[in-house]
Amino acid sequence: MRQVFFFFTVLSIVLAVTSSPRVHAQSDAQYNLPDLADSNSLQHYVRQVWTTREGLPHNSVNAMVQDQSGYLWLGTWQGPTRFNGRDFEIFDDVRVTGLPDIGIYTVALNRCNGSLYVGGARGGISRYDEGSWRELEPAPPFINQLSIDDQCNLWVASSEQGLLFYENDERSVAFTTEHGLPSNAVYQSVVDANDNLWVATNKGLAVKTANSTQFTVIDSVPGNLIRELHLGPDDKLLVGTEQGLYRQQSDNDFVPFIPELKASISTIHHSPDGYLWIGTYRQGVWRYDGRRLDSLNVENGLPNNHVLDIQNDHEGSIWVSTHGGLVQFRDALFNTYSKAHGLAGNYVRAVYQWQGALYVGTSNGVSRIDAEGVHTVGPATDIPNQSVLSLAEYQGNLVIGTYTGGAYVWNGNTIVEHWHSENILPDNEVRQIAVHPDIGIVMGGPGGLTHIHNDNISYVTQVDGLKNNYTTALSFDHQGQLWAGSVSGVVKIALQNNGDHFSYQIEPVDLSTLNDAELVFQIQEYQGYLWFASDRGLIIYNADDDSWRIFNRDTGLPFDNYLSVAFDGAANLWLGTNRGALLIPHDAFTATLSNPQKPLIYHRYTEVDGMSNSQVNSGGPALFRTSDGNLWFATATGVSVIDPGSISKLAATPPPTVIATVTADGETLSYGERVAADTQRLAFDYAGLGYLMSEQIRYQVRLVGFDQDWVNKGRFTTAEYTALPADDYLFQVRAAYPGGEWSKPATFAFSQSEHFWQRPMTWLLLGLGTLLLAGFIVRARLRYLDRSRQRLEAMVKEKTTELEAIARQDPLTGLGNRRAFDERLKLEVKRSARSGGLLSLAIIDVDYFKQVNDEFLHTIGDQVLIELARRLRRILRDIDYAARWGGEEFAVLLPDTGLEQAYDAAERIRLAIERHDFSHLIGDKQLTVSIGVASNQHYPDHSSLLVAADKALYEAKNKGRNRTEKK
Ligand code: GH3
Ligand code: MG
Ligand code: MG
Repeated sequence: MRQVFFFFTVLSIVLAVTSSPRVHAQSDAQYNLPDLADSNSLQHYVRQVWTTREGLPHNSVNAMVQDQSGYLWLGTWQGPTRFNGRDFEIFDDVRVTGLPDIGIYTVALNRCNGSLYVGGARGGISRYDEGSWRELEPAPPFINQLSIDDQCNLWVASSEQGLLFYENDERSVAFTTEHGLPSNAVYQSVVDANDNLWVATNKGLAVKTANSTQFTVIDSVPGNLIRELHLGPDDKLLVGTEQGLYRQQSDNDFVPFIPELKASISTIHHSPDGYLWIGTYRQGVWRYDGRRLDSLNVENGLPNNHVLDIQNDHEGSIWVSTHGGLVQFRDALFNTYSKAHGLAGNYVRAVYQWQGALYVGTSNGVSRIDAEGVHTVGPATDIPNQSVLSLAEYQGNLVIGTYTGGAYVWNGNTIVEHWHSENILPDNEVRQIAVHPDIGIVMGGPGGLTHIHNDNISYVTQVDGLKNNYTTALSFDHQGQLWAGSVSGVVKIALQNNGDHFSYQIEPVDLSTLNDAELVFQIQEYQGYLWFASDRGLIIYNADDDSWRIFNRDTGLPFDNYLSVAFDGAANLWLGTNRGALLIPHDAFTATLSNPQKPLIYHRYTEVDGMSNSQVNSGGPALFRTSDGNLWFATATGVSVIDPGSISKLAATPPPTVIATVTADGETLSYGERVAADTQRLAFDYAGLGYLMSEQIRYQVRLVGFDQDWVNKGRFTTAEYTALPADDYLFQVRAAYPGGEWSKPATFAFSQSEHFWQRPMTWLLLGLGTLLLAGFIVRARLRYLDRSRQRLEAMVKEKTTELEAIARQDPLTGLGNRRAFDERLKLEVKRSARSGGLLSLAIIDVDYFKQVNDEFLHTIGDQVLIELARRLRRILRDIDYAARWGGEEFAVLLPDTGLEQAYDAAERIRLAIERHDFSHLIGDKQLTVSIGVASNQHYPDHSSLLVAADKALYEAKNKGRNRTEKK
C-alpha cells in the first residue's frame, strides 16, 4: 500500500497549497466553538438541479466545459448549449453549426485561442469561435471524445476509426490496430508530461512512447472497456475501468486504487480544492479526500445514478451531469444542522452559546453542537423530551425553558433544579428568559413575569401595569431596565432593589404611532439604540433623545413581520422573517436612520443560500451571534448558521459580464456599427456569468453620451433605448452579487446616424436644387409648352410638401414636432399682437418618466407617450394646438385664452392624465405631469413667453410635481 500512501501525501499537499475559498477568522481564545459555519461534508454543499423542466434541452448532459468568458457549454443530444446560470441557448440548427447531426457527446476548449470544439453523432465535429461555427472533417459513425493537447492540437477518439489527430483543424494522422491499438473503438486519449500517448479502448489501455511508432498494450489494467483516463496533479495516470479505478505506479505498472469503490467508472475530476471526484455508471458520484470516501446518489439527492461528466467552474462550484439532469454543488453561505444531521428535532425555537458549545432548543429536546458534532442533551441526562422555547445562562447553569414542563436548571450533567407550576411558576410555559448579574433572572410566559433574585421570588402581571401577561420578548438594557414585549405592546420596567424586595416601576410604550405594532418578538440593544422586531416592522428607540422610529414597508422593507434581530461584527443588521434572513448593510440602515426618505437596501437569503428552511422562528433567542461572529438562525427545519464575513468574500469576486446580443429594430448589430437614422429601438441583452447566486445578480447599465450615471436595472438582463439622437455612443453594463463589488463593465460601441433632413447640408442642397430646378423651369417655359411647366411645378411642390410634412411631424405620436410648434407659436404671437387678442402657452412634462423607462421597457415608455398624446388631443379644443416639444415634453398653444383660463385648462389636462388608466402598460405605477403656463398678457413676445412657461414648469417640478404653475 506504499503507493497509495504516496498519493495521500500528494493529495494533502495539493490540499494545502490550493487556496481554499473557505478561510475563517480565528475564534475567541476563551471559547473553543468549532468553525461550524464551515463543514466539509458532501451534504453541506448547496445542490441545485436543472432538468428539462428548468429549460435544459435534454436531461442527459454528456459533457461540459466552461469557456474563457465564463459561459458553461453543455453537450446534449439536442445540440451544443450555452448556459449563463439562468438561460440555456441551444444551437440546434445544423445549418448554423455545420454538424451532420445535433447530438453532441463531447466538448473541448482550446486554451490557446478560446475556441470550442464539439463532437458526437455521425462523427460530426464543429468549432465555435467568436460567434461563428466551422465544421471539421467528420469521423463517422461516432465521436467518443475530443481533447486538446498542450500544443493545442485536437485528438479525436472515434468509435470505429481509432484515434485521429487534427493539426490546425485538418486531419493528419490516424492511429489504429495497425499501430498496435487493441481495438479501433477508442474512448479517450491523454498525452502525459513525457509525451507518452495513452489510449483507452473497449479492449483495454495502450501506450505509445514519444519516439516509437507502435503502441504497447498495458496488462496491469483489465482488457475491456475503459471510458476514462485522467492525469492527476502528480502526473500519474488514473484509469477508470468497468471494475473500478487503477492508478499508475510507475511507467506501465498500474494497481487498483480505492478498491472499496467497486463500480464501473464513467468520469474522473480533480477539483481545485484538492478532492478527487469520481462519476460512476450506476452508483452516483463519489468524492475522495485521500482518506474518506463520500458518496452521493439518488438516495441522498442526486437526480440519477448514471454520472456522465464532472467539472468545476471558475468560482469553484462542482458541476455533475447525470442521465437525469444537471447538478451544481456550490459552497453555501449558510450551513444547516437539522434532524438529518443528528439534531434532536427540526423545529427550533432557541439558540444559545454556553460553555463553548452551541445549544439548540428544539421541539424534541435540546441538542449541543460542538467540535465533535451534534449531540442530544436528551435521555442520557434527565432532561425530558420537551419542546424547548428558551435558553439562558444563570449562575453558571443553563436554564432550559419549555412549552409544557416549566424550566430546568442544568449544570451540564444533571438537573439541579426544576421550576414549574406546582412550585414557583404561574404556569409551565417559559417563553423568554432574561438574566442580569445584579437583578437576577426573569422568566416570561402566558402568566406574566416571574422574578428570582437570590431566594426571593416575585411576580409581575397585568395588575401591576403589564400591557398583557402573555410575554413574547424580554431584555435588559445596559442601565438594568427590563424591556418586556407581549402580544399587546411593550413596557419598560425600572427595577429598584429595596434590600429585601424589589419594586417595579412600569412605563407603557405607545406603539400606536409606530404603524400600529403590537406583537414584539425580540428586543436587542445595540449602539445606544433599542431594536424591537415586531409584527409591523423593526422599531427603533433612541434613549438619548427618547425618540421612536420604525423601519417598515414605507422605508423599503419587504414584509410586515420581523421575528428576530441581531447585528454582526461589521455592524450590519440582520432580521429573521418567515421568508428568510434579511441583511441590511450598516451604511444602508444608518442612511435611512438619518434620512427616512432614503429607502433601505436589503439582501434576502433563503434555501438557495443553504438554509434548509427559510422560515425563521421566533423564540428565546431565535437569532444568536456566537463569540466567533457567526450568526445562528432558529428555523422550522433545524438551525442555520452563517459566517457574515463569507458574504463579502463571495461578493468580492464579481461575475464577469458579457453582452450577448445587440439588436437594432430586431437586426443583430456588431461592435462599432452605425445604425440607420430611422432606427426606432436598440436592445442589449447581457448576462453576469456567475453561478453561485445567479438569480441574485444585479445589473447597472450606462449609455455614455446619453445617461449621466449608471442606471440600476435590478435583475433585468435587457436594456432598451428608443429614438436616440444622432451621435456616437458607448453602451456599458456591469454586474454584482448582492452587496458585492461591480464587475469590470462590458462595453459596446455604436453610432446613430442622422436623418438626411437633420443635416444642414441637405437643406442647403435642397434650396440650391430647387433654385436650379426653378431656373430650368424658367428656361423650359421659354422653350416648351405651358402644360409641361405646370406639371413640373406640381412635382416640385408635392415633393417639398412631403418633405416638409415629414420634417414637421413627430413620428411617434403623430403630433407636430418642435419645429412645427415654433413656427405656429411665432404665427400666433404675431396674430395676437395685431388683433390684441389673448394667447397662452402650456408646457407639459411627464413626472419621473425616466423611472418608467428604467422599470419597464423603452417600448412601454413609447406606448405611454403615444397614449398620453392621444388623451391630450381629445381634451383640447379645435383651436388649440398641441405638439411634442421633445422627449416626454409636450407644448400646447391656447389661442384666445387668458392666463387664468389657461391655468384652468392646464389643470383639466393634468387631472385627466392623473385619472387616465395606464395600468395595461405600467401596472399600478401612477403617471402624472407637471405643467407651466404663461400668457401674452405679461409676456407679449415669442421668446419671453417660452421662457416664462418653462420657468413656471420648473417651479411646478420644484414644488413637488403633479401640479400647474402660472406666470
Ligand atoms: P422629472 O421630469 O419629473 O424631473 O423626471 P424625469 O424622469 O421625467 O426626468 P427627465 O426629464 O430628465 O427624463 C426624461 C426621460 O424621458 C429621459 C429619457 O430616457 C426619456 N425619453 C425621452 N424621449 C423618449 C422616448 O421617445 N421614448 C421613451 N421611451 N423615453 C423617452
Ligand atoms: Mg423632461
Ligand atoms: Mg420629466
